[in-house]
Amino acid sequence: MVRYDPWMQLEFFGAAGEVTGSCHIVRAGGRQLLLDCGMVQGDRDAAARNKLPFPFEPTGIDAVVLSHAHVDHCGRLPLLVKRGYRGPIYTNPACADLVPILLRDAAELAVREAERVREDPLFGVDDAEAVVRQLVRVPYDQPRELLPGVLVRIREAGHILGSSSIELYVEEGGVRRKLVFSGDLGQYDTPILQDPFAFQSADLVLMESTYGDRRHRGRDDTERELGAILAQAARDGGNVIVPAFAIGRSQELLYLLAKHYAEWQLARWKIFLDSPMAIAATRVYWGHPERLDDEASRLRASFRGMPPLPNLVLTESADESRAINAIRGGAIIIAGSGMANGGRVLHHLKHNLARPECHVLIVGFQAPGTLGRQLVDRLPEVRIHGQRVPVAAQIHTLGGLSAHGDQQDLLRWYDGFKPPPPVFLVHGEVASSEALALKLRERGVTATVTRPGLQIDLAGVKSLAHDWPSP
Ligand SMILES: [Zn+2]
Repeated sequence: MVRYDPWMQLEFFGAAGEVTGSCHIVRAGGRQLLLDCGMVQGDRDAAARNKLPFPFEPTGIDAVVLSHAHVDHCGRLPLLVKRGYRGPIYTNPACADLVPILLRDAAELAVREAERVREDPLFGVDDAEAVVRQLVRVPYDQPRELLPGVLVRIREAGHILGSSSIELYVEEGGVRRKLVFSGDLGQYDTPILQDPFAFQSADLVLMESTYGDRRHRGRDDTERELGAILAQAARDGGNVIVPAFAIGRSQELLYLLAKHYAEWQLARWKIFLDSPMAIAATRVYWGHPERLDDEASRLRASFRGMPPLPNLVLTESADESRAINAIRGGAIIIAGSGMANGGRVLHHLKHNLARPECHVLIVGFQAPGTLGRQLVDRLPEVRIHGQRVPVAAQIHTLGGLSAHGDQQDLLRWYDGFKPPPPVFLVHGEVASSEALALKLRERGVTATVTRPGLQIDLAGVKSLAHDWPSP
């Protein structure tokens, strides 16, 4: 069976024409390297798509490189292993510490969901554990030969702890090409994390475009807006519910609450981090001081473990979580899932959405088909656990807290490349990717919005980058 044409090639599978399901393949020297293996998130259709066979043979993959620990980038790794992949999964050390937290949770979720619909689970806890055993830690900024003719260097992406952009040097028959895969890019000057790495050269760029059509509010404005919402919520006397990704947004929120504790009079609130996964991830965050920015390093040096919030309650058990339901006002509840399509936040929304004195804060991207998206779209009524719940609570979308850079951030990242290499846009809804492509084309850049199955002959790409690190 001919698995692939014997030349250097890049092929797009997932997060092509949409945001989730990140998965691309690089072929060189007769080897195949997989970039990310993410889950598709969203409506019921997404669950069905995650079950489909991979559009490649898992046993034919020689190495996997993982950009970061979000489920839409690593969530199908257990399935890849279950379907026969036994090779190394390379990622940076901070990401390798977060992956077990995330995948064990994903596996338990898959098993519970399977019981509910009386089917075999997509994968089990054993498969997640197998992924953890196959993880290989590659430090940031050090070139490493992963396969003959494939050299990789991992760079900061500033999106969540342990997020990375991947520099790939591929060689075949004397032809050398340098690819840069952005991974998910954070905003510049985001709290806690360092800025995305400033690249200077590449022959070809794969770039995310989640917010390719949007401008976030400025960082200071966003923090002021958050303070104002909490002040209003305090006057209204209800609760504040924040659906938040366990890894990333939860830590940033806690950090901001700690930073403005006195100014925002937060002593009057009880703050709940109601997610065992977020609690575990927070410990990993503070266990990697080498990845923090200066301000966060200073804050970390002044305390141990968690941000210094005297009224922070960590609720690990389900009973502790249920007890929160009795609280009618004065609680800020941070809980998953981040798109409110499952998890403990559903219970909190069920108890608070119908009450006009309550507030819901949306702080991250909401995929179409999720409850979070329905709230953003201001539906007057939603369904939770099969029950109709009218939406009377006040819904706020704080785009400025997003883990993703906006159009300006993305252009700033790309503008570091000189001369400008051709760019393939991934990880965006088509309208968003197209808007960014338009901006790039105005600069004379060849920009392509990818679709699944699109193949690029790398030897046919013009050589622009001339650095070649030695491992
Ligand atoms: Zn991400």
